[in-house]
Amino acid sequence: MNIIENLKNNRNLSDSEFKEILETNQYDDLLVKEADKVRRGIYGDEVYIRGLIEFTNYCKNNCYYCGIRCGNTNAVRYRLDKDEILACCDEGYKLGFRTFVMQGGEDPHYTDKLICEIVSSIRERFSDCAITLSIGEKSKQSYKDYFNAGANRYLLRHETADNKHYSKLHPESMSLDVRKQCLYDLKEIGYQVGSGFMVGSPYQTTENLISDLRFLQELQPDMIGIGPYITHAETPFAAFKSGDLHLTLRLISILRLIFPYALIPSTTALGTIHPEGRELGLKAGANVVMPNLSPVSVRKLYALYENKICTGEEAAQCRGCLEKRVESAGYRIVTAVGNVKK
Ligand code: SAH
Repeated sequence: MNIIENLKNNRNLSDSEFKEILETNQYDDLLVKEADKVRRGIYGDEVYIRGLIEFTNYCKNNCYYCGIRCGNTNAVRYRLDKDEILACCDEGYKLGFRTFVMQGGEDPHYTDKLICEIVSSIRERFSDCAITLSIGEKSKQSYKDYFNAGANRYLLRHETADNKHYSKLHPESMSLDVRKQCLYDLKEIGYQVGSGFMVGSPYQTTENLISDLRFLQELQPDMIGIGPYITHAETPFAAFKSGDLHLTLRLISILRLIFPYALIPSTTALGTIHPEGRELGLKAGANVVMPNLSPVSVRKLYALYENKICTGEEAAQCRGCLEKRVESAGYRIVTAVGNVKK
């Protein structure tokens, strides 16, 4: 039996086998083929859409890779208020979105009370929708409060599961242990949890990527988001090059084979490093896309990295464009909450 069949059957490989398939392009065609088979076996040709509302680009953290880090004094900052966020949801609902993702920097302006108010207003108005938060590291009590207010999913990428690598990407005030604890707290509370990592971030090694896979095996998240690291000039990592398309696709297929049931987005970052990046991601095993529902006027300002797609005037209606892209890849967008199948 070959190594890819092994991976598919056992949903696992040894470290040295993972290293082998990560470091060569020789298995890529087979990986894509098998990952697509597994995905179609469980999710058919369905692609779930999540409406992303980037509601603040203020951030108290200073992650070295991120364009909206507090140390970037050139970033033009914005916040959306509750009514503006609800307006995004209204528009999204009409377009067929049944999941709203509120993502932002770690912005103290949004107290727990305010987040709960916003979440319960969305919950009241859209009882048939999933509400996802992606607002960083909080206390377990805060996560509980958001959950009780009506949030039911949470996205928090671990970024890298290697301690030393983590400390090269983040200031000393941040730690991998805290991030991991947040993920376990979220799971325990009852959220559907998404984690993930950047591919090709500065100093990343194959061993680091294997640690990422091992951590995800331990966590067993419902959703796994990965995308290439993309350089931003106003960060300490300005001189590093962006992550690689093929390595990212290879990892999507590997993730699909380890976690057949996972919800795996084909990310905006993937679409940014290649014009057909998101289509290729779907073909490699991803089954979710997360178009932007933020007001067009602020889209350019949520610049985690450079040249982000779908930020121009023409992108006011991402849904139509994406629908064609998804169909061209051989899949179909569905209007559904799109819970994880288990
Ligand atoms: N503040 C929230 C949301 C972060 S933004 C949190 O802490 O979870 C969402 C994701 O964008 C991050 O988790 C990170 O993986 C990714 N990201 C940040 N900067 C990036 C860059 N330069 N290139 C690619 N992805 C980046």
